[in-house]
Amino acid sequence: MVAPFSGGCACKAVRYEVSAEPIAVMDCHCRDCQYASGGACTTAVVVPAGAFKLTKGKPKRYGSKGDTGNDVFRNFCDNCGSPVFSEPPNGAIMVVKAGSLDDPSWLKIGGALYTSSAQPWAHIDPNKMQFEKMPPRAG
Ligand SMILES: [Zn+2]
Ligand SMILES: [Zn+2]
Repeated sequence: MVAPFSGGCACKAVRYEVSAEPIAVMDCHCRDCQYASGGACTTAVVVPAGAFKLTKGKPKRYGSKGDTGNDVFRNFCDNCGSPVFSEPPNGAIMVVKAGSLDDPSWLKIGGALYTSSAQPWAHIDPNKMQFEKMPPRAG
């Protein structure tokens, strides 16, 4: 058991708590996540939306179109710039950025999303799940 767990941005202006275990932990290699992370991918910690609580601060939101044509809102600290969490159009889940956890060391990566846009130099574990885009049922 790891829940509840907490996290936030580098300057501590934005803080959150999660009261449930993650549903999934996946590396997302879509272009938007490459921009948002500044690297090969974003490690997405998927949690039930109802278990996520913003406890401090007011992150800035940036909306970009997901595959469904609906906006994915990326929340980041407007002081230090850390990406903290994303709100997918599917309102049932919230995506917390792995690097924003106070202790990210216990996370277990389930696999990779959007391998179709992964960079040739990105590391993708061949022994784990891989999806060219999103997993079919998460649509
Ligand atoms: Zn900050
Ligand atoms: Zn992505």
